[in-house]
Amino acid sequence: MIDWNEFEFETQAVRAGQHRTAEGEHSEALFLTSSFVFENAAQAAARFGHREEGNIYSRFTNPTVNTFEERLAILEGGERAIAAASGMAAILNTCLGLLRAGDHIVASQSVFGTTVILFKNILSKFGVETTFVPLVDYTAWEQAVKPNTKLLFLETPSNPLTEIADIARLATLAHQNQAYLVVDNCLCTPALQRPLSLGADIVVHSATKYLDGQGRCLGGAVVGKHALLEDIYAVLRSSGATLSAFNAWVFLKGMETLSLRMRAHSENALAMAQWLSAQPQITQVYYPGLESHPQHALAKTQQSGFGGLLSFEVAGGQNAAWQLIDSTRLISITGNLGDTKSTITHPATTTHGRLTPEERAGANISDGLIRLSVGLENVGDLQADLARGLKNL
Ligand SMILES: *Cc1c(COP(=O)(O)O)cnc(C)c1O
Repeated sequence: MIDWNEFEFETQAVRAGQHRTAEGEHSEALFLTSSFVFENAAQAAARFGHREEGNIYSRFTNPTVNTFEERLAILEGGERAIAAASGMAAILNTCLGLLRAGDHIVASQSVFGTTVILFKNILSKFGVETTFVPLVDYTAWEQAVKPNTKLLFLETPSNPLTEIADIARLATLAHQNQAYLVVDNCLCTPALQRPLSLGADIVVHSATKYLDGQGRCLGGAVVGKHALLEDIYAVLRSSGATLSAFNAWVFLKGMETLSLRMRAHSENALAMAQWLSAQPQITQVYYPGLESHPQHALAKTQQSGFGGLLSFEVAGGQNAAWQLIDSTRLISITGNLGDTKSTITHPATTTHGRLTPEERAGANISDGLIRLSVGLENVGDLQADLARGLKNL
């Protein structure tokens, strides 16, 4: 059997995890089946009794899902990956697997909105409390840690302001306090950043974003060491939030172009960030690839590319922001990101609309802020799409 660790990332992304059947299929086989058949009653008993390896039911294992898991584990440099039905299912099941009532989470306040809801409104019902801290305020992280803190949770770069946190530093803080560091690596993907190599214990993904990369399917994953993932898998197979074989197959196709796409997203986003910085109607551009970005140096050492997401502020608040968004003909007005198609969003009234005005101000989400997920279209066409609206501001 091939040891995929001997190969480079691009090769792993195209090939790792495939186990051909006797049919000799070139593309990965799609096992669209809910259950598996046994040769006889004794084999069924052996499988159910864990005395024999093999598939029983697709909520437990499915060969196409396994291929996705193996490939992602190799790409992230983890011992194992577990696929989940969505990014949120990956995060919830990680928490259910690792935490119990009375435990405490310290989380960046700049995590995905639904993650905030999950921690604040849902886990709290089961006796797990969360303290939210500003992503790059390390003193706040240190002060928030308590004797019962079990998880530190962050996303870097943050969405939409692209702040960059020092993963190695927060891993050290977690381990000094017998806690685990969980990093949501959705924005960079392993093509640009490998948190486990920087000391993180667990990586979670929304595969819905760049791993698919073409806006087709929901999915997620948890990656890390066998010992931690065993508890998470035990919850997942009972909670039932497992990934469908079809979606796993779509993600496998997406991952084959991951390196190429992330490089192209990064190039296009940098070109857009530089162009936006030169527009008089725009007062601020947030992109880690700009030398003016406060954590540009850290981004250069921690990431191998700056990614496809940026945000910017227009003078004139919400009216100007909406006017610019509504003037686009090409860029899609949608809340999603990580697609070959560029998307544009007004965070204050959509992704961050549930926050109070004070919370939004604290998180630096101004009314003039616009998020752009830069796709793979021609950069000149994207600039022209925004230039038309900018002219009228
Ligand atoms: C979208 C997203 C999620 C949630 O993923 P779903 O697949 O929508 O459940 C989690 N984290 C980040 C950073 C995301 O962008």
